Amino acid sequence: MTQRYTTNNVGIPVASDNDSLTLGPNGPILLQDHYLIEKNAQFNRERVPERVVHAKGGGAFGTFEVTEDVSGFTKAAVFQPGTRTETLLRFSTVAGELGSPDTWRDPRGFALKFYTTQGNYDLVGNNTPVFFIRDPIKFPDFIRSQKRRADNHLRDHDMQWDFWTLRPETAHQVTWLMGDRGIPSSWRHMNGYGSHTYLWQNAGGEKFWVKYHFKTDQGIDFLTQADADRLAGEDGDHHIRDLYSSIKKGDHPSWTLYVQVMPHDDAADYRFNPFDLTKVWPHGDYPLIKVGTLRLDRNPDNYFAQIEQSAFEPANLVPGIGPSPDKMLLGRLFAYPDAHRYRIGPNYAQLPVNAPKSPVNSYAKDGAMRYSNPADPVYAPNSYGGPHADAELAGETASAYGATGEVLRTAYALHSEDDDFGQPGTLVRSVLNDDQRTRLVGNVAGHLSNGVSKPVLERALEYWRNVDKDLGDRIADKVNPS
Ligand code: NDP
Repeated sequence: MTQRYTTNNVGIPVASDNDSLTLGPNGPILLQDHYLIEKNAQFNRERVPERVVHAKGGGAFGTFEVTEDVSGFTKAAVFQPGTRTETLLRFSTVAGELGSPDTWRDPRGFALKFYTTQGNYDLVGNNTPVFFIRDPIKFPDFIRSQKRRADNHLRDHDMQWDFWTLRPETAHQVTWLMGDRGIPSSWRHMNGYGSHTYLWQNAGGEKFWVKYHFKTDQGIDFLTQADADRLAGEDGDHHIRDLYSSIKKGDHPSWTLYVQVMPHDDAADYRFNPFDLTKVWPHGDYPLIKVGTLRLDRNPDNYFAQIEQSAFEPANLVPGIGPSPDKMLLGRLFAYPDAHRYRIGPNYAQLPVNAPKSPVNSYAKDGAMRYSNPADPVYAPNSYGGPHADAELAGETASAYGATGEVLRTAYALHSEDDDFGQPGTLVRSVLNDDQRTRLVGNVAGHLSNGVSKPVLERALEYWRNVDKDLGDRIADKVNPS
C-alpha cells in the first residue's frame, strides 16, 4: 500500500505533522503557518452542543421485517406483510451528560428510524411504556429537577423528590425507575416502547389507536444498585461497549414488535385516558398483536457522524400513521426538530445518516451547510413542472378526536380510574414478586436516605404509601429504623 500523505482540508500537501513554522529556532510562530491555524481552529469547533436530554448514547443499524399481517389496521408501507426496512436504533440515558456513566438509574431512550419507501418514519421511544409527566409545559421543570443545581452544579435527590412528590402523576414512572428495570444490564436486555398512543389508518380509511411494544428477544435483565455503582466506576461506557462488541462478534440482538390496537371510538369512555402518557393500556383490555422483528447487525463506522448527529423526530410520521391527542407527543412534534436545528443546523436532514433512502422533492432551500438544492422553479404552485402535493398519496392520517368542546388546559380525571397511584399499585401488587418488591424497597430507601430534606422525605413516604400502603411502610421503616 502506498503511504498516504497528510493534506490540509482542501487537499494541499502539508510540510510537517509535528513542527510549526517559526522565525529562527526559538522565534515566534508565524501567522503564515496556515495549517497550524486551520488544525487548531478545527479542533476548537469539534463539538456540537450535546443534547439537553438523552445526551449519552450509542446505536447501531439493522433491519425491521414484518412477519405478520397488520394491514387491516394500517396502510403504512413499512408495516405491510413481508416488508423489510433498513433501520437505525439509538439508545441513551436521559439525564446524564455526554460522558456520564451508562449505569446510572434512569430511563433509557429507544429511538428508532425506519428508512421507508415513503420517507423516514421515526419512533422515538423509551424502555418504559409510560413517562413522568403528561403535559409538555412541565418538561423543562422536570428535566431540570433531575439534572444539576444552580449553585454547586451537583445532582440532588432533594430536588428530584421535591418535584416528583409535588406532581403525583410521576408515581407510575418512578415505580418503574426505582424497580429492577430502572437499570438494565445492557441495552440488549430491555424492551422498547413507543410509549405514546399513535393513530393508525388502514387502506379503507378506518382509524385505530395503537401502542408499540418492542420486546427483547435476549430476555429482560437488570443490574442491582450495587453492581451498577461498581460499573459506573469500572466502565462508565458499559452499555455502549456491550452493544458494539456483541454486534462486532456477530451476536445480533433482536426485538419482536407487538402493538396494542384500540378501535378509534373506544377512546371516549375507556376507563383510563388513552392519551395520558403516565398510563398504560392493561394487556387484559388490549392484548399484544405481533407485527415483526427488528434486528441490529451493523455498528456505526463513525460515532460522531452517525450517532451524535443522528436526528430523530416524532413528527416524522408516514402515510397510514398519525399523532394522537397525547399532549406530550404533540409537544415533542415541535421540540425535536427544534433541537436539531439548534444543535446541528437547519440542514440536518441532508446528512447521510438522516437523509431518507426515498426521493426528496422538498421546496426547502439554502441555509448553512446546504449542499443539495431544488432546481427552478423554487416556489409552489408553479407552471414550470415543479413537484406538486398529492393529498391522496400523502393519505394524511389525522383525527379530529377531542377537537370539539371548550378550550381546556387539562383532560385529566375524565375517566373512571384516572387516579395517579392505581397503576403503579397494580404493578407492585400483581406483577412484582417478593424479591422484586424487596429490592424496590431497598432502592427507594437508599435513594431517600441520601440528601433528602425532612419535609420532602415526609411527602415521599406518603407518596409511596399511596402507591401501596405496605410498600410505603416498609420504605419508612428502612429510612427511619425505630
Ligand atoms: P400484565 O400482567 O398483563 O403485564 C405486566 C407487565 O409488567 C408485563 O408487560 C411485564 O413486561 C411488565 N413487568 C414485569 N416485571 C416488571 C417490573 N419489575 N417492572 C416493570 N414492569 C414489569 O399487566 P397489565 O397490562 O394489566 O399492567 C399492570 C402493570 O404492569 C401496569 O400498571 C404497568 O405498570 C406494568 N406494565 C404494563 C404494560 C402494558 O403495556 N400493559 C407494559 C409493561 C409494564 P414483560 O412481559 O416484558 O416482562
